[in-house]
Amino acid sequence: MRHISTALAITLVSGVVFAEQRHAGAHVHGLNHATIVLEGNRLQIAYEFPAGQLAEHGHDEHKHDEHDDEEHELSEKLEAIDSVFAMVRLPDNAQCKEMNVTHSVTQVGGNDKEHAGHYDALIESTLECSAANNLTNLSFAPAFERFDDLEKIEVEGVIGSKALSQTVTATSASLAF
Ligand SMILES: [Zn+2]
Repeated sequence: MRHISTALAITLVSGVVFAEQRHAGAHVHGLNHATIVLEGNRLQIAYEFPAGQLAEHGHDEHKHDEHDDEEHELSEKLEAIDSVFAMVRLPDNAQCKEMNVTHSVTQVGGNDKEHAGHYDALIESTLECSAANNLTNLSFAPAFERFDDLEKIEVEGVIGSKALSQTVTATSASLAF
């Protein structure tokens, strides 16, 4: 019974965190969002960022009549990032193995012209950590190394029974919980 209510609480909290993050829209270049939920040995990480970060030389100038091609190209670039470990580093002794990764590219504001040519990229990863009690910290240094135009990451989540809400930067890319 206790397990069921804990699991339910985590699901609700993570749903709310994620919904808020989506709602904030927060398509701000240089700002990324991560949601982290640890429940037992299962760790879920969602990492969302403006897809312009995937372009080799900053945010592309868009040809507005080529949306479909562009979305396809962004999806290919996003799918080339085949693991969440491209963004985040976890303690080795937590023994986290990535079980599943999904990718999606979404146009900001649907078909709203104001945001034409702007897309959000999302990577969602599910991991199993056989020594989850060693998961006491993590680092987003890999993301800062990968993306030149990344300034900060807003991190939200639930680790066991603790809520997590912190902002990390290139010079302070780690967080402890
Ligand atoms: Zn954009």
